[in-house]
Amino acid sequence: MSFLLTCPHCGVREVADFAFGGEVSVRPRETPTFRELSRYNYFRRNVAGVQREWWYHRSGCRTWFQAERDTRTNVVLRVGLPGELGAELGVGP
Ligand SMILES: [Zn+2]
Repeated sequence: MSFLLTCPHCGVREVADFAFGGEVSVRPRETPTFRELSRYNYFRRNVAGVQREWWYHRSGCRTWFQAERDTRTNVVLRVGLPGELGAELGVGP
C-alpha cells in the first residue's frame, strides 16, 4: 500500500517518508477517572471514512503534523500543523 502525503513544509512525498502517529484524540481532563484514562490509552475509533491523524516526517523536516485521510481510499483531504485544521474532526465518545 502506498500513497502520497503532503508535508506542510516539504510538499508532496511518498508515505514511506513518514511515520504514522495514530488518530488524533482528546486528552482527558486533569484528574481523569480510571475509565477515562483507560479509554484514552487503549481505545480508538477506527472509523471507515475520514479521520484526523498524526504524521511525522521522519525522512524530511522531522515535523509532526495532522492529516485528514479517508481510511477506505487513502485519499488525503487536508494537512496542517497542529491547530491549523480547526476543531477536531469527529472526536467524541
Ligand atoms: Zn517535511
